[in-house]
Amino acid sequence: MAFLSDAINRIKPSPTVAMTGRVAELRAEGRDIIGLSAGEPDFDTPEHIRDAAKNAIDAGHTRYTAVDGIAPLKQAICDKFARENGLDYSRDQVSVGTGGKQILFNALLATLNPGDEVIIPAPYWVSYPDIVGLAGGVPVIVPSTAEDGFRISAAALRAAITPKTKWLILNSPSNPSGAAYDADQMRALTDVLLDYPQVWVLSDDIYEHLVFDGFTFVTPAQIEPRLRDRTLTMNGVSKAYAMTGWRIGYGAGPKALIAAMAKLQSQSTSNPCTISQYAALAALEGPQDYIAASREAFQRRRDLVVAGLNECPGVSCPMPQGAFYVYPSIEGLIGKVSAAGTTISDDEAFANALLDETGVAIVFGAAFGLSPHFRVSYAASDDTLSEAIRRIRTFCQGCQ
Ligand code: PLP
Repeated sequence: MAFLSDAINRIKPSPTVAMTGRVAELRAEGRDIIGLSAGEPDFDTPEHIRDAAKNAIDAGHTRYTAVDGIAPLKQAICDKFARENGLDYSRDQVSVGTGGKQILFNALLATLNPGDEVIIPAPYWVSYPDIVGLAGGVPVIVPSTAEDGFRISAAALRAAITPKTKWLILNSPSNPSGAAYDADQMRALTDVLLDYPQVWVLSDDIYEHLVFDGFTFVTPAQIEPRLRDRTLTMNGVSKAYAMTGWRIGYGAGPKALIAAMAKLQSQSTSNPCTISQYAALAALEGPQDYIAASREAFQRRRDLVVAGLNECPGVSCPMPQGAFYVYPSIEGLIGKVSAAGTTISDDEAFANALLDETGVAIVFGAAFGLSPHFRVSYAASDDTLSEAIRRIRTFCQGCQ
């Protein structure tokens, strides 16, 4: 009898986490490494949020709470959805988990039966296909192209739907491409879904606040109220308030789904960290000026990185609408040989050669289901980004 389960054998370790590990190893060897592979803001959590956590400890908020979140936090989440998205939810339609990741995990584990299909546009966040696979579902990947702005068309969505389709996962703005759907583009997709009542929508809105050039963020339940009864709108505090380590995410949707997710959480992690829940409450209810300040910083860095990468021979970098990633193509480098003699056969070979020869760590596109590309996280200082671009340019110039 095999010791490891079939379920664990269906998944692979996160490639982005693996790259972060490799960066740590190389640094420990004394190498000068610029890490642009991690998906987290480089800013500190705002002070009033840190203070709220300290006060929570002193006030004795150090015990178990209700499994899927304290009532005041659920209310703050309802208020956030009403204020920012025009969505009206009650507290029993809200679930709080250990990061947005647990919300996705709970929703998929609570709903997928073996063979159920989940449509995932590519490039995708690395965890979606693996969580679907762990839950016994089948990821159905719908590729997009840089020419289409890394957005899938209504026709492509329609063609991917079968009687076994249970969910569509949408992530706008996207990790890894930074692409976002505007209201018309989102409506084109929600119009298709109206024809297929068995298909639910999981909208991963974690990068909602990181949109640039005046782009207006939209979410499917807001665009098409008739989909409300089969939409889970997921969000969290990690990216919006520089709170990745606090591990608080949330979702809102129909009561029966929320109750099933709470049941699963009651038999796995129980409540998300109590202290972090009070910090998240302060984040959602307190001053929101951090959001505008970080958006401004990220837009400036995006502009710097896109301009710099487009000066690298063989690299073509589209201008994304949001998040803190760019997803350039390296089509022009495939088949070439680097200065140190490595053949750039695919984007993984490019990423390895770039790291070995220049000390710049990025993540190769195959990890996100669309090649030949690479993802740069520009959540780093302007000086670090400028130096990284200089090294990438020298590397590309050396490829013959
Ligand atoms: N969704 C996307 C697209 C992400 O990039 C991430 C984090 O990298 C998450 C969800 C999960 O975030 P968290 O679990 O920190 O809320």
